[in-house]
Amino acid sequence: MDFQLSEEHRLIQETARRIAKEKIAPRAAEMDETGEYPHDIFAAFKETGLTGLTIPQQYGGSGAGMLALALAVEEVAKYCCASGLMLLLSALPSQPVMLGGDERQKKLIGEGIASGNMKGAFCLTEPNVGSDAGNLETRAVRDGDDYILNGEKMYISGGTVADYAIAFARTNGTPGPKGISAFIVPTNTPGFKVVGQDRKMGVRGVPTADIVMQDCRVPRENLVGGVEGEGFNHAMLTLNSCRPVVGARGVGLAEGAMTYALEFARNRMAFGKPIAELQAIQFMFADMAIQIEAARMLVYQGAWRVDQGLFGREHAVYLSIAKAHATETAVKVSSDALQILGAQGYMMDHPLERHYRDARQLMIVEGTSQIQRVVISRALLDRQLVYP
Ligand SMILES: Cc1cc2nc3c(=O)[nH]c(=O)nc-3n(C[C@H](O)[C@H](O)[C@H](O)COP(=O)(O)OP(=O)(O)OC[C@H]3O[C@@H](n4cnc5c(N)ncnc54)[C@H](O)[C@@H]3O)c2cc1C
Repeated sequence: MDFQLSEEHRLIQETARRIAKEKIAPRAAEMDETGEYPHDIFAAFKETGLTGLTIPQQYGGSGAGMLALALAVEEVAKYCCASGLMLLLSALPSQPVMLGGDERQKKLIGEGIASGNMKGAFCLTEPNVGSDAGNLETRAVRDGDDYILNGEKMYISGGTVADYAIAFARTNGTPGPKGISAFIVPTNTPGFKVVGQDRKMGVRGVPTADIVMQDCRVPRENLVGGVEGEGFNHAMLTLNSCRPVVGARGVGLAEGAMTYALEFARNRMAFGKPIAELQAIQFMFADMAIQIEAARMLVYQGAWRVDQGLFGREHAVYLSIAKAHATETAVKVSSDALQILGAQGYMMDHPLERHYRDARQLMIVEGTSQIQRVVISRALLDRQLVYP
């Protein structure tokens, strides 16, 4: 067992840390207030190759892997969880193609994402289905050498700036997951429309979009992997593989919140001494550190598992545990950190109320905390997770 990061991992971590401190930290509050996508931050990721970490070298990326992406996301999320999501979006809409696409599709999407010349969006959720994605209603009907897509997708991260969408749609009458296929849909395809942008509580730097596909025609070659009925599998493997990176957003956020509160507590006086000298406050920090360290280990181990190819159904439990624990840690730690600032924590002059609002997103996206517990308890009952 080796807990040391490789030289490559350390370099990626340092690069992300530098961008986070120099470019992201000064812009984080403004991004939150304006709700505008920060193209300058994306440019910094692009210039330093951080958009290609999970893309294999033969398709234009560095092939550094999911642990590398988790490390970069952790650094960025210390200051801005939305910027962590921007980086995560290099993987979420490219993984379905990297996992299930044909060579041409992998080259197209891999090179586009790694170079930063393309942005993607992962379009699974619909007005009538979120957790129950196997029952999605968007249709793709074969018409000669094309498919025609009709349906609506909701809450799509990065949907307003994406060049292509991975859209999941039902391709035959088969109900449930087996009837679902994945398509690469360029967002300039006639009939593909962003019809709304959500007014949301946090993570406001990356807008989420309401998308309608109306008689949206794509060539058959855009069916991911060229085989109908594989889409749900691609979606689940993608979500499994990205779960540690959602967790990394939580770990980074918690670290940033705790660090900020710690500095505050050293200087804030009450009853004649800094509040950092009160044992009640010290124990709050100790609890934060316990949760953060546990979450970090789970996230790194989960990402390492993904890099070993261990993210199929039988391994999903570890990824769900990492996601659930790290995202719930983010909520708890940001709440406690805010509390330590007292009234000041509640004010927008400090970043903690933003961290707290941002953290709440993490327990919902890419499988809610409840859905992670469905996966975890199923693994226990099916004897996939055993302690012999
Ligand atoms: C900011 C933001 C960004 C998002 N980005 C994207 C994106 O890029 N792409 C995308 O496709 N989607 C995206 N989503 C959607 C997100 O993935 C869904 O919101 C999530 O999967 C939950 O679906 P739902 O909101 O429809 O809740 P529902 O599925 O309706 O669930 C409602 C409640 O019931 C619980 N529940 C449901 N089923 C079960 C069960 N079997 N057991 C126990 N409890 C259950 C849930 O945990 C939840 O508390 C985003 C959402 C947000 C908030």
